[in-house]
Amino acid sequence: LVRLFGPITQLSGLQETAQTVLVSFARVFELLDLKPLIQERPDAVGLEKNVAPDIEFDDVKFRYPTANEVSLASLEQLRTKQDRNEVTAEVLRGISFQVKSGTLTALVGPSGAGKSTITHLVSRLYDPNSGAVRIGGHDLKDLTFDSLRAAIGVVSQDAYLFHDTIRENLLYARPTATEDELIEACKGAQIWDLIESLPRGLDTVTGDRGYRMSGGEKQRLAIARLLLKEPSIVVLDEATAHLDSESEAAVQRALKTALRSRTSLVIAHRLSTIREADQILVIDGGGVRERGTHEELLAAGGLYAELYHTQFANPERYAAKPDIEDEL
Ligand code: ADP
Ligand code: MG
Repeated sequence: LVRLFGPITQLSGLQETAQTVLVSFARVFELLDLKPLIQERPDAVGLEKNVAPDIEFDDVKFRYPTANEVSLASLEQLRTKQDRNEVTAEVLRGISFQVKSGTLTALVGPSGAGKSTITHLVSRLYDPNSGAVRIGGHDLKDLTFDSLRAAIGVVSQDAYLFHDTIRENLLYARPTATEDELIEACKGAQIWDLIESLPRGLDTVTGDRGYRMSGGEKQRLAIARLLLKEPSIVVLDEATAHLDSESEAAVQRALKTALRSRTSLVIAHRLSTIREADQILVIDGGGVRERGTHEELLAAGGLYAELYHTQFANPERYAAKPDIEDEL
């Protein structure tokens, strides 16, 4: 800490000790003219509970912040005096769309098109550079972190687990869950057999120093969390990419239940999911290039049709190598 904070006190020309600075973290940012990227407004409001809200992207432009713009990284960067004018490319260039309450929208498009970025903005990991992301009519910037976190369930490719027991990792999603509810969720996510086979069962410690879960196992645990949480908004980013086809089919059934009557934004991995979507958005060039249902887009003969024919036309290739679908 001294190493990190030492240069700051020098830079800001203060006589304060590193410890004083540490106490007033907010002031460090103030002094350095840096702000944490995402902040909760003092007058932030809570999102209404138990409503499946609309999601709206309104002319959203976004580029990832440079290291200098990321608050904590900036403290490190100051030591190297990295060029402050460095810019990253604009990923979203004025994108607009709506996900109606209780419906499922599938995002497809070439790799690197910005699909995962859209999911990052929905869960407010970042704020747009211009335009607005709204949930239930509220700009995300006006909502409390707690209510947003409670409303959204995310399953992404790199599911995060705490170094703790499997039980604690699950209870994080619903602290009041009973033993039976935990088991039910694990069964739904096709992870119960594994947990049951471990000597300490739900009390097995996971993580680097505990039982190391494989990518597929982590993903199934993340899905179990989602089943427990029952959020009003579900965001899936290639959520079943790590699963073998047998467990995937079972997990898909569980997910289908979890998605029912929720507002869902899914980066589709399976053609079956895309087909069932109320709306498919083809993301390309930082915007929505095409939108419609599977049939409509196939008939239109555009990028979707092209992707469909190259990625899905050969079912054997698809079955043998599900990764191919990541590209769609
Ligand atoms: P997709 O999910 O459609 O494959 P992404 O949203 O992951 O695309 O990425 C869109 C673009 O943003 C890519 O050019 C990618 O390199 C860039 N990108 C993604 N994440 C970051 C990040 N954390 N920092 C900087 N650039 C990023
Ligand atoms: Mg992605």
